[in-house]
Amino acid sequence: MKIVKTIAEVRTQVKEWRAQGLTVGLVPTMGYLHEGHASLIEASHRDNDRTVVSDFVNPMQFGPTEDLESYPRDLERDAQVVEEHGGDLIFNPEPEEMYHEGFSSFVDMTVLTQELCGLSRPIHFRGVCTVVSKLFNIVKPDRAYFGKKDAQQLAVIRHMVDDLNMDIEIVGCPIIREADGLAKSSRNTYLSPAERKAALVLSQAINLGKAMVGEGIKDAAEITGAMKAHINAEPLAKIDYVKIVDCATMQQIDVLDRPALCAIAVYIGKTRLIDNFFTEDV
Ligand code: AMP
Repeated sequence: MKIVKTIAEVRTQVKEWRAQGLTVGLVPTMGYLHEGHASLIEASHRDNDRTVVSDFVNPMQFGPTEDLESYPRDLERDAQVVEEHGGDLIFNPEPEEMYHEGFSSFVDMTVLTQELCGLSRPIHFRGVCTVVSKLFNIVKPDRAYFGKKDAQQLAVIRHMVDDLNMDIEIVGCPIIREADGLAKSSRNTYLSPAERKAALVLSQAINLGKAMVGEGIKDAAEITGAMKAHINAEPLAKIDYVKIVDCATMQQIDVLDRPALCAIAVYIGKTRLIDNFFTEDV
């Protein structure tokens, strides 16, 4: 397992693999790797001869008041996780390597980014689409792996690949959770012990919503209303959104008459956490 910092080094390594006829998978991450990331690396290792893990806290996807500076970083620990789960190369560039002076080209998307996280984080998906496009151009993978934990991001990336005719298979991987249900996230490290307990309202609300869908309830407001009431009963929790959207367009729906995504974003203290379920998976 190798760690490289430059685009040139990634290209040289990938060309060498290609010359041997090997396939390449890419797992884009912001580092501080946990079992969620590990599951993506394992999936890539299963499907491809070689796996590249990008480890880059992308400044472009953070808003001015967000946690870019405090975002946890630990390359040494990340290297162990990548090695243990079958990754072959870590690409860990400095921001200047990815965004040279005068950088001025962006990949942006309209409809799918208007709802959910796109509402509370207006420049987020432009940053995500731009950096993921750059990573695709740098690594030129056969397949790229994304978690369903960031369900809107997965939908946006799939749409971008389709819109822009990128010849890459996008693989969506299930949400990995802590034993008590909390979805694993690098941001969980921000939580105090009291907040960590309070954060359980997210997965509890998701389970409540799933159960209602399982019972055959089709009224979106009835489901999100019950989920909101559960979250609001926790004093440390503040809802950003609890919504049910059409899987294809990410636009809100009133009746569950098509494949839908139920997504939530909740502040626990100052930490913003997300969780979701797809109605088709219930
Ligand atoms: P991040 O480092 O948070 O940008 O995440 C990198 C990738 O890992 C994204 O595709 C995420 O959706 C995925 N990921 C993060 N947490 C989880 C999780 N708990 N389960 C599955 N995938 C995850």
